[in-house]
Parts: sequence; structure tokens; C-alpha cells
Amino acid sequence: MIGIVDCADMPLPEFSELSRDQASGRACLACGEPLGGGGIYRGTVWGFYGKAVATARVRSCPPPAAGR
Ligand SMILES: [Zn+2]
Repeated sequence: MIGIVDCADMPLPEFSELSRDQASGRACLACGEPLGGGGIYRGTVWGFYGKAVATARVRSCPPPAAGR
């Protein structure tokens, strides 16, 4: 079925595409909404911050079926 892809199903973005809040796990990696404590951990994105290797532990909105 073609429709809106849930944030929880979005592939991990490139490190360079992440905003500061997304890279720190404070915002959804897909839609950029602030997560508070409600996001789900999606994994670690590796990249470079200047010459240094950097990692970002990214989170996304939980799937709609979760909770309740
Ligand atoms: Zn989202």
C-alpha cells in the first residue's frame, strides 16, 4: 500500500543531513519533531565532523501502533 511512510520505517539519513537536534537524538530523524522522551532508538549514524569521526545516536517517532 502506498501512503505516508512512518518515521519509524524511514531509513537512517546520512550524518551530514542531520540537524544538531537530530544528531543528538532530541528530534525525529525523519520529520524533525522534538521527541521529548517518546522516541524510539534507531541506531548509530557514522560521519565526519570536520576531520574527526563522529557518531550520532538517532531516534525517530514511535510507530503509530505503539503505546495505548
Ligand atoms: Zn517523526
